[in-house]
Amino acid sequence: MTSMRSHLCGELRPDHVGERVTVCGWAARRREHGEHLAFVDLRDHTGLVQCVVDGAHDLRGEYVLRITGTVRPRPEGTTNPALATGEVEIGECEVEVLAEAEPPPFPLDDRADDVDETVRLRHRYVDLRRAAMQRNLRTRAAVNSALRRAMDDQGFVEVETPLLIASTPEGARDFVVPSRHRPGTFYALPQSPQLFKQLCMVGGVDRYYQIARCLRDEDLRADRQFEFSQLDAEMSFAGQEDVLACIEAAVGAAVVAVTGEQLGEVPRMTWREAMDRYGSDKPDVRFGMELVDLSEAFAATGFNAFAGATVKGIRHAGASEATSRNRLDDLTDRAKRWGAKGLVWMRVEAADDGGVTLASPIAKFLSAEELAEVARRMEAEPGDVLYLVADEWARTAHVLGLLRLELGRPPVTEGGLRFLWVVDFPLFESVDEATGRPVPAHHPFTMPHAEDVALLDGGAEDLLSVRSQAYDLVLNGWELGSGSVRIHRPDVQQRIFDLLGIGEEEAQAKFGFLLDAFRYGAPPHAGFAFGVDRLVALLLGEENIREVIAFPKTQSGTDPLTSAPTAIDATQLEELGLRLLPPRT
Ligand code: ASP
Repeated sequence: MTSMRSHLCGELRPDHVGERVTVCGWAARRREHGEHLAFVDLRDHTGLVQCVVDGAHDLRGEYVLRITGTVRPRPEGTTNPALATGEVEIGECEVEVLAEAEPPPFPLDDRADDVDETVRLRHRYVDLRRAAMQRNLRTRAAVNSALRRAMDDQGFVEVETPLLIASTPEGARDFVVPSRHRPGTFYALPQSPQLFKQLCMVGGVDRYYQIARCLRDEDLRADRQFEFSQLDAEMSFAGQEDVLACIEAAVGAAVVAVTGEQLGEVPRMTWREAMDRYGSDKPDVRFGMELVDLSEAFAATGFNAFAGATVKGIRHAGASEATSRNRLDDLTDRAKRWGAKGLVWMRVEAADDGGVTLASPIAKFLSAEELAEVARRMEAEPGDVLYLVADEWARTAHVLGLLRLELGRPPVTEGGLRFLWVVDFPLFESVDEATGRPVPAHHPFTMPHAEDVALLDGGAEDLLSVRSQAYDLVLNGWELGSGSVRIHRPDVQQRIFDLLGIGEEEAQAKFGFLLDAFRYGAPPHAGFAFGVDRLVALLLGEENIREVIAFPKTQSGTDPLTSAPTAIDATQLEELGLRLLPPRT
């Protein structure tokens, strides 16, 4: 306890009856009780307790109070099973008003769920008093400490890397900070500690970790903020298996800390299989609705749209009745926005012979055998809707992957925690048609798969089939994090830079210090990083990571509480050697 209080509000139980206690907190609610008495629910971070006080006190909502009184059982028939302290109350109260308060800008009970988020963020200090926010912050702290403990126990050393740096190769836009001492030059805020953790390996740290704040100037979404925290790790004389085991141990510790349950073995899937079966490199495996390959069924088709394409389908079981024509048109529009040429839908109906028929605007272009093969491969049952996409492999998979989520994804609170490792990511995401240069899928220090190195000498198709030693951790369809085995040999690194078209000068300018360091003896090393905000949000069943961040930015990147970002005054600009352009119109 503290010098000001003997107990916390939420901990009082029948065991305390008869004790004289002092509690502190905020007046959550006041109800008149006859002429002379009032019930005041006092709230601190542990919960509420009912205090029976002299009605003459002028105690308003959110006043900060210190109440000394005697714990007693509530009179029969007035206990409140919904409240942990519901069997007792504090009577014979002496009340001290520690601070008065203006009426809160929104109610702090369950009704706050309907309050506009900007209003909540504008008054985040009040919002944080709510039980849900207290729970979220405390859970987050428990996760952080479980992660730290797990990493410490595995021999990882916490190293703090700088916030004002040159630039990191994560591929998002940098936030930059102008330098006063060298006007015209800028620091970048780290998109990740990537380069520094690799330098730590050269420096013999052996196992590094950090719960690192990372900053990326990207469009914000429900699962993305400009700044976020990740558990960042790197280990020497180690490969993929070592990293996966250590990260599993850390994530497992966080899961136990929050749910009390063991993580169990985390299944693995190659990137190729994930794309083939789920149309996503971060499959949500809480539900089925897998993509079924139909290309073979149309190998000799006379239907132009399907000829020569990768044709895949998904089955929305039993959905026909609930799926209106409007909805089908809407889904078709979406599929087109996602990049498909079109979306084929088929309603599955019962046939007279006990089989099924497929009713679809395109059915007349397909042969009876083709339709029968679709029904067979997709295990179609009367009442289902089938959706087919025909395009090149990646686009077919991508569009159906999104459609699958749209049609089948359970709410965040359902389906348990389904972790998954996705391994063998491609080394390159695409090949630029104009330049013939590949675009790296991870960062340019990612080691190619040993078996695929020869393909680096090939053309575009070969390059796209080079697998990397990169891996992602996925939870319920969210990418929690990624990592890779790094290239530690300068000659291999040079080869990759050459392929990427990163000239010697550019390489030297961007990561020269890392390449220099490698010349002094780099151990083989590998690492990983995963988002703590996302992990905590999913463990708590929160759809939005802002709910697990004390002071987040809104979707438009502003902070309604401090008004950041704000203008700076002319002298500050002057000192930094900056002049503003007129606002863009
Ligand atoms: N630096 C990478 C990231 O932040 C993770 C890693 O490769 O270790 O995504």
